[in-house]
Amino acid sequence: MKLMEERIRKDGIIEDGDVLKVGMFLNQQIDVCFISELAKEFYRLYKDAGINKILTIEASGIGLACICAIPFDVPVVFAKKSKSNNMTGEVYSSNVHSFTHGTDHAAVIPKAMLGPNDRVLLIDDFLARGQALHGLIDLCEQAGATIVGAGVFVEKTYQKGGEEIRARGVRVESLAKIKSMSVEEGIVFI
Ligand code: 5GP
Repeated sequence: MKLMEERIRKDGIIEDGDVLKVGMFLNQQIDVCFISELAKEFYRLYKDAGINKILTIEASGIGLACICAIPFDVPVVFAKKSKSNNMTGEVYSSNVHSFTHGTDHAAVIPKAMLGPNDRVLLIDDFLARGQALHGLIDLCEQAGATIVGAGVFVEKTYQKGGEEIRARGVRVESLAKIKSMSVEEGIVFI
């Protein structure tokens, strides 16, 4: 999507370790009007899919998923990275390896928030090696929910997570696909 690629070229910073920093508009500082334009694209792609819930993972997914939920008029559930004291009752839990932190953590949601009647759109900011999405898919499978697809803002296709998720039969729509990225050569989009 041209709009997204242009914004990444303008404000994205390539860090060593294969990390693209987009903190000026997508992560830490969120350009809400811009993201709501991107949300319309996810809506165009998934509007006929009967989605009744959006699922994401804390922390950076939450704000983005909430903006995406507006055109669909559906609630957002986010997986927490640990079971907190105010999470009562039974939970679904999956293990996720964090690309940016290099550590493992849980992805936890209360059983009451996801079930067989749900048709779920997964939303996340980045798709790299696919661990975050695998975790969310796993939660949906535990709950018996239908995964309609995933909406990703930036996919780094060379890290192969997208290939794996699609091979699991999950539709993945990415607004920007990065084929290669380095400090020396810059970003090449597909
Ligand atoms: P994956 O689980 O697909 O390997 O990585 C996706 C998660 O790691 C995303 O939720 C995102 O928070 C983080 N991530 C992966 N690559 C990048 C990146 O290049 N930049 C930023 N800002 N986050 C990333």
